[in-house]
Amino acid sequence: MDRTIDSKLPDVGTTIFTVMSQLANHTGAINLAQGFPSFEPPDALLDRISHYLHNGANQYAPMMGVPALREAIAEKTLRLQNRKVDMDSEITVCCGATEGLFSAIQAVVRPADEVIVFDPAYDSYEPAVTLAGGLTRHIPLTIGSNGHDFEIDWAALSAAIGPKTRLIVLNFPHNPTGAILQPGDLDKLAALLRDTDCFLLSDEVYEHIVFEGKPHLSLLSHDELWERTLVISSFGKTFHATGWKIGYCIAPAYLSDEFRKVHQFTTFAISTPVQHAIADFLRSDPDFYSRLPEFYRQKRDRFCELLQGSRFLLQPARSTFFQILDYSEISQDNDLELAQRWTRDIGVASIPLTVFCEQPFTAQRLRFCFAKDDATLSDAAAKLCAL
Ligand code: PMP
Ligand code: GLN
Repeated sequence: MDRTIDSKLPDVGTTIFTVMSQLANHTGAINLAQGFPSFEPPDALLDRISHYLHNGANQYAPMMGVPALREAIAEKTLRLQNRKVDMDSEITVCCGATEGLFSAIQAVVRPADEVIVFDPAYDSYEPAVTLAGGLTRHIPLTIGSNGHDFEIDWAALSAAIGPKTRLIVLNFPHNPTGAILQPGDLDKLAALLRDTDCFLLSDEVYEHIVFEGKPHLSLLSHDELWERTLVISSFGKTFHATGWKIGYCIAPAYLSDEFRKVHQFTTFAISTPVQHAIADFLRSDPDFYSRLPEFYRQKRDRFCELLQGSRFLLQPARSTFFQILDYSEISQDNDLELAQRWTRDIGVASIPLTVFCEQPFTAQRLRFCFAKDDATLSDAAAKLCAL
């Protein structure tokens, strides 16, 4: 058959996470590419899912999420961000952060609107903007004085904001660079937006994985910004359960209303037993979150120590479960080519950063996921040290 279709996303290929995981599976390489833990969710949480599976929680959940879970999210938001949100009108449970981001963008962005993202930008933002008829403007994060840490270029952001700017997408803690917001950043952003009608979409899926005792500066914590913000989070990262695809959107009622108009026709509702189980777990172990930074700091430090004898340059990640490695002393090759070659030849898969950028300013850096057991990290590091 020689039929073709005029694609709505002509420049979009298969996501790098699928490309690299397929290559890793095919070649038998250690997969430090796609970000998922090699360990299991807490037993107590698994037990609650089993309980609900066997006790009648198997039909549609309410469109906005089961009340017990929305209540638990509201409690957590008050405790951690000092933001009182209304569980009925301001919280919606969605199918992972991916659906949350997609629904939020469809709800807010109109044809010809401009949306600002910071490069390297997570790969789901721009296609969602394109499908909404909007235009994506990319502002590179800049590399700070230590040559490693990425930061917002405030002058570039200020210059990019104009009458057509409908939405700015933020992602701090930042995947893939680990950048975090600094004290004062939220006030700077508020000052920039004060006389605009621009909305904010804050992807905070790594909210609980920030190192060196630094706080996570959520957009929820800022009175002025909160009024124009949709915050998206995901239980996948927090509970080592990326396969469950459950997240949530917190936004003021007037934005949540619009979000729900899209959400109800995107997925309608999310797995009922998983929602009930997470609600119970949030109540029974409210400090689970506070143990995550130390848990992942140990993994990060182990991975970085194992790489000490290598020719990679690195600065330990400030957040997330990804470590950026600078390979400029090993090769000058393009990062996409190299990530694929090293998957095949040395048996370690990683994620190239240029696929998240309009301009290839981050060449010679690859992202490695350290959410792995010690043996996997040791095996991978031994292979990387041989380069
Ligand atoms: N945003 C970022 C920055 C991510 O890294 C991811 C992947 N974990 C997502 C969104 C999607 O999250 P989920 O798997 O919950 O859809
Ligand atoms: N967020 C994950 C990562 O950054 C991947 C998510 C996905 O595979 N879609 O690796």
